[in-house]
Amino acid sequence: MTSLQKVAAETSEAFLKSYGRPPRWMVAAPGRVNVIGEHTDYNDGFVLPMAIEHYAVMAADRPADGQAVIQIRATSGSEPLRVDLSAPVTPGEPSWGNYPRGVIAGCLARGLNPGGLDVLLHSTVPIGGGLSSSAALEVATATLMETVTGQTMDPVEKALLCQKAEHDFAGMPCGIMDQFISVMGRPDHLLLLDCRSRQTELVPMSDPSVSLLIINTNVKHALTGGGYAQRRLQCETASKNLDLPSLRDATMNILEQARGRMDEVVFRRARHVIGEISRTLQAAAAVRASDWPRVGTLMGASHASLRDDYDVSCVELDAVVDIARGIGQAGGIYGCRMTGGGFGGCAVALVKTGQVEAVSRQIAADYKARTGIEATIFVSRPAAGATVLQA
Ligand code: ADP
Ligand code: MG
Repeated sequence: MTSLQKVAAETSEAFLKSYGRPPRWMVAAPGRVNVIGEHTDYNDGFVLPMAIEHYAVMAADRPADGQAVIQIRATSGSEPLRVDLSAPVTPGEPSWGNYPRGVIAGCLARGLNPGGLDVLLHSTVPIGGGLSSSAALEVATATLMETVTGQTMDPVEKALLCQKAEHDFAGMPCGIMDQFISVMGRPDHLLLLDCRSRQTELVPMSDPSVSLLIINTNVKHALTGGGYAQRRLQCETASKNLDLPSLRDATMNILEQARGRMDEVVFRRARHVIGEISRTLQAAAAVRASDWPRVGTLMGASHASLRDDYDVSCVELDAVVDIARGIGQAGGIYGCRMTGGGFGGCAVALVKTGQVEAVSRQIAADYKARTGIEATIFVSRPAAGATVLQA
């Protein structure tokens, strides 16, 4: 049984237990991990994420009372959500409901009105773990709206609708990566996404001998001084200084020539972004060529740049990457880097599938010895994007 079939069966059973009858519709949408391309999205650059084998699944049926209310119960134990379709849909309590509320509001505005529904949400994407349980929840909701109404949206329109829900209803000004990959992911493929043009390209990664290992450091450092906003501002300052619309338009040569008239910190921030955009394109080419040592080297360079030039790593992420470097290719690891915004969260490693267990055990033990913290580690091959399991 695949992990998707397994979570689908669990959801179906949970629906039956909760509502006393089997579901009529069932959909799934995955979380994601970004393989390379960090802090490039708001610089009009490239990212290279993949969907992971962890999903938000929604099962649904018409309510017995025939009311125009969407009720969502969650196996996470969150307070149930009620969305009354006879009134305007607005943000409110419970706050987790703002993700589905925003998507439902967006769908209604586009003429997708599903009518009343009894819904059960079951998600195996760790919540708040940097693997985008939020986008999985949004995209599952949008896919359910499509399935019930029989009306489908263009994938780009659907992803943008979900992103808008996160902006307007959840108050999180996220980029486009999470929703795009959760909609468009495909088994055995990464997704190369141009954050400027929004063009996408599926990059085949069908070699079963390699997998991605996701290592959650289980730390999240509180940021003083608004680390993320500050870096966005520094990137803007750099592109203004270079007289370019964004750092996407810069090259290392252009940057080097401007070094003398640029603040040293701003220079380093720009050097990371320009290098990372280039590394992301090179990594996509190396994946296409199944050149795993090359992909691993680029991941290592990405981490060094995030640590030294962008200053968004932390002791725990550096420890994981250092342990992985020690294990090396001979031990089954091609490369490893922090993934996500930084200051904690997850690292991602490209590993030999046959050595996953030994590698996971060693990283867990060494990380515990160095930091005193238990890491959470799991493996994934590139998974499917939004899927209709039962129509
Ligand atoms: P991430 O997307 O990295 O997991 P976020 O903070 O962006 O972290 O999103 C997590 C939020 O999404 C949760 O606080 C909750 O509001 C909502 N959420 C995601 N999955 C679920 C779920 N299965 N049940 C309830 N709420 C969920
Ligand atoms: Mg999120």
